[in-house]
Amino acid sequence: MTHILVTGGAGYIGSHACKALRAAGYTPVTYDNLVTGWRDAVKFGPFEQGDLTDRARLDQVFATYRPAAVMHFAALSQVGEAMNEPGRYWANNVGGSLTLIEAAVAAGCLDFVFSSTCATYGEHDNVVLDEETPQQPLNAYGASKRAVEDILRDFGAAHGLRSVIFRYFNVAGADPEAEVGEFHRPETHLVPLMLDAIEGKRAALTVFGTDYDTPDGTCIRDYVHVCDLVDAHVLGLKWLEDGKGSRVFNLGTGSGFSVMEVIEHSRAVTNRAVPYQTGPRRAGDCTKLVSGSTRAAAELGWQPHRSDLQTMISDAWRWHQSGHYEA
Ligand code: UDP
Repeated sequence: MTHILVTGGAGYIGSHACKALRAAGYTPVTYDNLVTGWRDAVKFGPFEQGDLTDRARLDQVFATYRPAAVMHFAALSQVGEAMNEPGRYWANNVGGSLTLIEAAVAAGCLDFVFSSTCATYGEHDNVVLDEETPQQPLNAYGASKRAVEDILRDFGAAHGLRSVIFRYFNVAGADPEAEVGEFHRPETHLVPLMLDAIEGKRAALTVFGTDYDTPDGTCIRDYVHVCDLVDAHVLGLKWLEDGKGSRVFNLGTGSGFSVMEVIEHSRAVTNRAVPYQTGPRRAGDCTKLVSGSTRAAAELGWQPHRSDLQTMISDAWRWHQSGHYEA
């Protein structure tokens, strides 16, 4: 059995990645500190609790499992929090990743799949966002992810580390079998907040800003289904196994939807009213983030199958109604 070390395997995207890896014949080893992840989400392979900044613990886990590759999801990922507490983002996302990368290289584990973000691009007027677009992040979250990309490039040149870097657009949806799904505490993401509001589990959703330069004044994002996203990771792993070397890929569908359009689709899918109010802009938000790249399709053969808004919201709704994790 080929082991893959999955940091953040107890989190939203990492848990879906573990399921996809298992289905592809790998054994995912989850490494997670459970600060934002859930023990109940680790269902598809062994669990090792630990922190990214703990080099001794990482060395022990590399020695135990001798993983063929690392998939690195563990990170703090909230734009609002990053604006207020940038130090935590630099310490965790950059310092922690550097420790992990050094441990991987020391263990001779030289294939590395990294979850980066379209937030590394920042604000660009009327520019198609592809992998060559200059990275000018507007917040410490995007800046921390860009810094890790730089570390991976430097370690590639110096130590032969091979990395596939995925720049995600907005991830949504859940496992259609509802074995795993999105569950953050606190929750900050649009789709789960909206579903909570529909169910009356929390107060009305606040739409952050209605004065953006978009047709309805609300922000536009490119939403991609978490299952499609993790499929790309398995393809990225095979890319590395095939010796194709380091590469960056955007993961988005190329279609943008405004916050108001997402609300309207949720109303249609759930057949329930979406209680919402409008509010001021959220600091750090870009007007529009939509992928303009076909590289993942052309080079990895990646084909999103579930990334239409209706499927994403109905999968999220099914998961939402089926319960949640316990710590
Ligand atoms: N958003 C919103 N109200 C909320 C949460 C999010 O209007 O309570 C908007 C946010 O401004 C952005 C979009 O929804 O335009 C997606 O935000 P999310 O936090 O889900 O993802 P991000 O874009 O930060 O990765």
